[in-house]
Amino acid sequence: MRAYTYVERERFELRDKPRPALVDARDAIVRVTLASICTSDLHIKHGSVPRAVPGITVGHEMVGVVEETGADVHTVRPGDRVTVNVETFCGECFFCRHGYVNNCTDPNGGWALGCRIDGGQAEYVRVPYADQGLDRIPDGVSDEQALLVGDVLATGYWAARIGDITPDATVLIIGAGPTGLCTLLSTRLHRPRRVIVCERSASRRRFVSEHYPDVLVVGPEECEAFVRCHSDHGGADVVMEVAGTADTFRLAWQCARPNATVVLVALYDEPQVLPLPQMYGKNLTFKTGGVDGCDCAETLHLIATGALDTVPLVTHRFPLSRVDEAYRLFESQADGVLKVALEPGR
Ligand SMILES: [Zn+2]
Ligand SMILES: [Zn+2]
Repeated sequence: MRAYTYVERERFELRDKPRPALVDARDAIVRVTLASICTSDLHIKHGSVPRAVPGITVGHEMVGVVEETGADVHTVRPGDRVTVNVETFCGECFFCRHGYVNNCTDPNGGWALGCRIDGGQAEYVRVPYADQGLDRIPDGVSDEQALLVGDVLATGYWAARIGDITPDATVLIIGAGPTGLCTLLSTRLHRPRRVIVCERSASRRRFVSEHYPDVLVVGPEECEAFVRCHSDHGGADVVMEVAGTADTFRLAWQCARPNATVVLVALYDEPQVLPLPQMYGKNLTFKTGGVDGCDCAETLHLIATGALDTVPLVTHRFPLSRVDEAYRLFESQADGVLKVALEPGR
């Protein structure tokens, strides 16, 4: 089968590989019908994910059809349409039992697919702990509607869940890339009084205004003054930092009101500075990133009812044979690209 492979730093290639087989009784083999490209794939490509293993198939956000299951798989059967979770987790250790599945203590726990073991930018993928890692797609929900469930939507949904959002809150979301937009969609489910999105790119700001006209939109330069003006207590009650730069980290705590919650959803490339003397007295609560992706059944239900819709985020489609071109487009952020769907069947 064809599989997009991490050969070495700066080099991904579409290669022929044998179809994956069951290794453990809790595994399932999934025929991938749609996969997407994530910014984390680019991090692997550029060498900023040291634990990524050369030779593996990349891709950790996909949907497909179960082909084969091990003897100890109980929740899915061959023929089921499923979403694949970015995280591998056992469901039994201390962290899994408390919902902190990102910190599962299994050797394959956490982000393994498309990083430490073969992922889903391929025709088939082996999913360990299939009872935990696969969720059945409800009838009436398309592959495209479900595509982001296992990774960026899981992240946005988790961020909104831990964000302490109350009905009278002003929520500031910094960054309107795919994860920022999924954070926005999930935040709106909590019905806060106001949502403000701060985004550098004019085309992404326009996307937010067009699709979510109730959301206030601002660029980073005006952000602090704008938030002060459009909030009730001198700053945002909740800040979601989804951009991941030194500037946006600073902006996040500066725009927060005293006693606010700041959720750091972003994955930073470098350490950030906490200027504690300047912050003294602000009494902020920081929650640091690393999605616990265990709400996929719930988000699939919300998609089925129409409460969540990520389809507008999937702006481009490519057959797997043109994956190099798809990566170039995704990385360039040209042509209003947000998410790219790859079709391994073509
Ligand atoms: Zn990802
Ligand atoms: Zn576990």
